[in-house]
Amino acid sequence: MFVYTRNETKPIRLGNVVLGGGNPIRVQSMLKVPLTAEKRALQQAQKLESVGCEILRFAVPDKNSLPYINSLVASVSIPTIADIHFDYRLAVAAIEKGVAGLRINPGNIGSTDRIRTVVEAAKAHQIPIRIGVNAGSLDKEILKKFKEPNAEAMVSSAFKHIRLLEQFHFDQIKISLKASSVTTTIEAYKRLASIVDYPLHLGITEAGPPGIGTARSAVGLGILLHEGLGDTIRVSLTGPPEEEVKIGFEILKALGLRSHGPTLISCPTCGRCQIDILPLVREVENILAAVSADLSVAVMGCVVNGPGEAREADIGIAGGKNNGLLFIKGKPIGKYPPSELLPMLLKAINDLNKE
Ligand code: SF4
Repeated sequence: MFVYTRNETKPIRLGNVVLGGGNPIRVQSMLKVPLTAEKRALQQAQKLESVGCEILRFAVPDKNSLPYINSLVASVSIPTIADIHFDYRLAVAAIEKGVAGLRINPGNIGSTDRIRTVVEAAKAHQIPIRIGVNAGSLDKEILKKFKEPNAEAMVSSAFKHIRLLEQFHFDQIKISLKASSVTTTIEAYKRLASIVDYPLHLGITEAGPPGIGTARSAVGLGILLHEGLGDTIRVSLTGPPEEEVKIGFEILKALGLRSHGPTLISCPTCGRCQIDILPLVREVENILAAVSADLSVAVMGCVVNGPGEAREADIGIAGGKNNGLLFIKGKPIGKYPPSELLPMLLKAINDLNKE
């Protein structure tokens, strides 16, 4: 089994969770509706919490959003982060309304006095601030110096922003360095991690729709996580935010960094396949969506890899000629015709889910 050496970061408290310092890597998502669409925003927040989202960020683009922060924060038990640009008064108001954290770019908050005001409010309410550097919105001075939004420019921007907060003796900082380029993102995080010990929030920004975005995020986050970097993650998809949470956990599970509900193993099928795998896997995937236990379920098409994978899983099916061999906890239970495989799997899943 691979043993991780996690990058040592300074622990910071975000509401009821501690980030960094070797604590579990947390999965975050973001509301995709404005706070002003109150009912939809509350529904989406609660849905996200129900699928396991552990940190919820939302945009506060203007003062019209402020009256909706209290109810949003109260509607979930997970920590909330207000994402604010340009207007320091919005940041202070959001802090006073009970958010657990802020995400800002200190560089676009304005004068030193305004940054100080935000930092003093964060200190008074004991909340952390995420410095969110994005390759698409680096300031002109940095772009002029580095000519392009490369990893060096992103790290330089982060460093400048870190210093802006540190000058007021504030160290409850988390940092993200997001670019849509996977290689730029990886390089930027690795460079920054070698010079600061603040917790890192990982993400590949504007990763794309679920298929493409999942691949880009899995490559980018996977490489960084495997190197021990990252304290929180977000998979940014042009799609439902619940998918972001699901994929985020799948990435962490694939690397053995978190467990989170069931794991489905299924063969891609080939010319040797002896049972109709595709509809069976779809049904099993639907059933597992409602399962909370950390079960592994293998659905395999033939005797080549089937018995091995099925035996290793908590529940497994290995396809044979006109039947499937069911394994539970490594033991062969019996051979069943295709029509009985789904009911047998369902029963086994329900039994183990209750344990
Ligand atoms: S388990 Fe069998 S059917 Fe499935 S891909 Fe492997 S060889 Fe093909």
